[in-house]
Amino acid sequence: MNVLNDNINKLNNHLERFRAGGIMNRVAGQDMPGTGGMFPSISPVDKSVICDVALGTAADIDRAANAAHDAFASWRDMPAMTRKKILVRIADGIEARAEEIALCECWDTGQAYKFMSKAALRGAENFRYFADQVVQARDGQHLQSPTLMNVTTRKPIGPVGVITPWNTPFMLSTWKIAPALAAGCTVVHKPAEASPLTARLLVEISEEAGLPPGVLNTVNGFGDDAGKALCEHPAIKAIAFVGESRTGSLITKQGADTLKRNHLELGGKNPVIVFDDADLERALDAVIFMIYSINGERCTSSSRLLIQDTIREEFEAKLIARVNRIKVGHPLDPATEIGPLVSQEHFDKVTSYFEIARQDGATVAAGGETVGNDGYFVRPTLFTGANNQMRIAQEEIFGPVLTSISFSTEEEALQIANDTDYGLTGYVWTNDLTRALRFTDRLDAGMIWVNSENVRHLPTPFGGVKASGIGRDGGDWSFEFYMEQKHIGFATGQHKITKLGAL
Ligand code: NAD
Repeated sequence: MNVLNDNINKLNNHLERFRAGGIMNRVAGQDMPGTGGMFPSISPVDKSVICDVALGTAADIDRAANAAHDAFASWRDMPAMTRKKILVRIADGIEARAEEIALCECWDTGQAYKFMSKAALRGAENFRYFADQVVQARDGQHLQSPTLMNVTTRKPIGPVGVITPWNTPFMLSTWKIAPALAAGCTVVHKPAEASPLTARLLVEISEEAGLPPGVLNTVNGFGDDAGKALCEHPAIKAIAFVGESRTGSLITKQGADTLKRNHLELGGKNPVIVFDDADLERALDAVIFMIYSINGERCTSSSRLLIQDTIREEFEAKLIARVNRIKVGHPLDPATEIGPLVSQEHFDKVTSYFEIARQDGATVAAGGETVGNDGYFVRPTLFTGANNQMRIAQEEIFGPVLTSISFSTEEEALQIANDTDYGLTGYVWTNDLTRALRFTDRLDAGMIWVNSENVRHLPTPFGGVKASGIGRDGGDWSFEFYMEQKHIGFATGQHKITKLGAL
């Protein structure tokens, strides 16, 4: 309780300046009010107004895009080692303010401090990792042919737009912004309207670290106005987007006239498949972690449990006991495992599935109820007796809600796992090596873990197939997106050039 009070006091100190002056947009190193006025940011913990936030419109996006355009040439041409040093200083700045970032993130999004303190540090890791790649980011290849020496080189694509969602917003923003800056691009960031606080901290930290004005600009506001204008702006060469699949489709449409390059990281309905030969204790830990941590508001969450019928009863019984013991509480209490859902709208969506599950004939084996009236709290929920045709098995609920489906054979498990519009991640639990090889080869997903929860390694490709997205982040894949390949062929001699119109 003391730690909770202590955290609340620290949070209040950090929020004082935002309560007094609101959160402004940041364009070309200057605070700018939104031309649309202000909108309130609401805390999901108690539904109170945290502060007012500048409401950005197309006019603000235009200013920010022009600022990013004006800052581009000098940022692109800055010596790589100088750019690297700035990115390292941003990582240092994030680490120095990690507690402030985590406290603000929890209050803004409802995520538990237990997870957000690590997520803030992951943001620093993202900057440090891509800072290390700055020097070689432009390196190309040498592809000799009989008459030419062909070389390739990479150039930053130009100013880019980054549009992020409200789940772990700080970490996700750094995951996009760090490689963009490392590549030599300038950025206009449109954070989610539900979670503006830590985007403001990121731009402050970046400028304090020496990032020149206009290299990172932040415009707050809503998707159908500021977000849309960013996609349509001719000075913006690419959009890195993280959010829902239907928004991803809008991003593509909106960018069509300006031939925008889009990278889309979208939704998921990811299966975790547990075979009866697996290490069931470890599988249980991973199944619980991958759906109930981060409030289940996580694109890679394993929201469908596919459990072999021979072990279903025993596994589900253990699962129910553990789920019922998960601690729902104040997100700033370090013991809390699940905080409130991010907003009224999302709370209404998640809780609607409690009734949908009953109507579809599934059993609500744990949870299925809200907690208190102060904020958007729900009990961690488990649906059993489900089949893959039910809405609870097909739709992304994006909360601490797991749907359990049983299967008898490997073939059936594969068919159920792939019977979804999405294809982000898959998790396979088996001690049969050849089955693991066979199964992962046929599972439709961008990322698969065998006998493991999602353990992110930054050089590996991150992204989904089907409605879960287009494109990959991570390692050099990030630079493929933020840079253009250029080929130059040098003649090595006097090769024959076909003559036209010659006598
Ligand atoms: P969302 O699509 O509603 O919003 C995401 C962002 O897009 C917000 O900033 C929003 O303002 C903006 N936006 C909305 N409409 C827009 C438009 N027409 N043009 C431009 N921008 C627009 O998503 P959300 O509810 O904030 O986030 C949850 C979703 O994000 C889930 O579906 C989740 O799976 C997905 N997600 C995916 C990944 C991944 O890596 N695949 C990671 C995290 C979250």
